[in-house]
Amino acid sequence: MRTPQEYLTSLLAGIAPLAPVQLALADVGGCVLAQDVQARWALPSFANSAMDGYAVRAQDVREASQVQPIRLQVIEDIPAGSWPSKEVTFGTAARIMTGAPVPQGADAIVRVEHTDGGMPVVEVHEPAGGHIRSIGEDVQADEVVLRQGAVMSARSIALAAAVGHASVLAHPNPLVAIISTGSELVEPGLPLAPGQISDVNGVMLEVSLRQLGARVIRSSVVQDDATVLAQVLQEHARDVDLIITTGGVSMGAYDTVKEVLTGLGAVRFERVAMQPGMPQGFGTLGSTSTPIITLPGNPVSALVSFEAFVRPVIRRLQGHEGSSSSSGSVIAAATFTSPKDKVQFVRARFVSEHPLTASPIGAQGSHILGGLAQAECLLIVPAEVEEVRAGDTLAFIDLRRDPR
Ligand code: AMP
Ligand code: MG
Repeated sequence: MRTPQEYLTSLLAGIAPLAPVQLALADVGGCVLAQDVQARWALPSFANSAMDGYAVRAQDVREASQVQPIRLQVIEDIPAGSWPSKEVTFGTAARIMTGAPVPQGADAIVRVEHTDGGMPVVEVHEPAGGHIRSIGEDVQADEVVLRQGAVMSARSIALAAAVGHASVLAHPNPLVAIISTGSELVEPGLPLAPGQISDVNGVMLEVSLRQLGARVIRSSVVQDDATVLAQVLQEHARDVDLIITTGGVSMGAYDTVKEVLTGLGAVRFERVAMQPGMPQGFGTLGSTSTPIITLPGNPVSALVSFEAFVRPVIRRLQGHEGSSSSSGSVIAAATFTSPKDKVQFVRARFVSEHPLTASPIGAQGSHILGGLAQAECLLIVPAEVEEVRAGDTLAFIDLRRDPR
């Protein structure tokens, strides 16, 4: 059996970032930039006022004071968005608003609070401050302002907009198909006939994927019927970047996913040395070689597998660097035992933030959903560890990205 880390490495070896496309700024939040972004012009692109006030020649008002104000002729009014037509000369000023271009001849701004606000003559009560934003003081024309590989935040999108771009080349978010399989499953909320249960994995994975930025097509539940499943799989393979199935990959008699995909040939099924989430499968489907990941059916196993394997795969498709599923390290707040030879993913809650400390929650069976909603993280207990002692440091996966 491979370790979860070995299995993840082999999964990622089969995944390449999606080809970059030109994405409108409003759609590129969270995406990875696939080009350097250059400024089409300097910032500011023209000298402009940092204050509402009067554009003046500094030397004209050098002696200005409350007791001996200096009077200047106001030759023009310059709101933001206009362009001055007159030159400020000895004894004159132009009224100017924040962001408006500084007129020829002026070398300083007197803020309006230091004047009587007058028109067409203004009384200046104090010497002028600088208050001029000069060309290129922020960004030079042609300067590279964002580097390939940057993750586009609202702040970097603001910069791209300021320097003249409506769109940038970036890795798109993947389109992912989710297929829940099992003849016992019905859509959430529908009444249950004897032997039926609600499909939990479909919505759980849909929301988890959306939170990563992926676009999702969730098919209706597919019964354990090889013909129907083969058809649904082939339909999706044409349109999506990744297919995720749940259920039907264990050792049972009706494990249809395994049966169908074993026939199609390009999917490898194996048991990974982890608990929960041991039965896993990965491969490609159809002439498009669409990647497919087959997750186990138990919702806890599906969630753990999602965090351990699918999340890093999605991030690779999105062009992110790094391939770890771990969020860092945490201190165990309690002593607990762990079976040998398998990596355990233990549902836990944080008990303190500084230092980050977490304690396992109740029953850990892979069918136990009651506690799953309470879990804030998964503690990752190495295969060789049989007892975790309070105070030990463990790797963990943070689940708090979910809205609570
Ligand atoms: P399987 O992997 O198909 O053998 O399923 C393992 C267990 O998970 C069984 O108890 C299934 O009923 C349950 N299960 C499978 N798929 C789902 C699902 N989508 N939602 C909730 N439980 C499921
Ligand atoms: Mg099943």
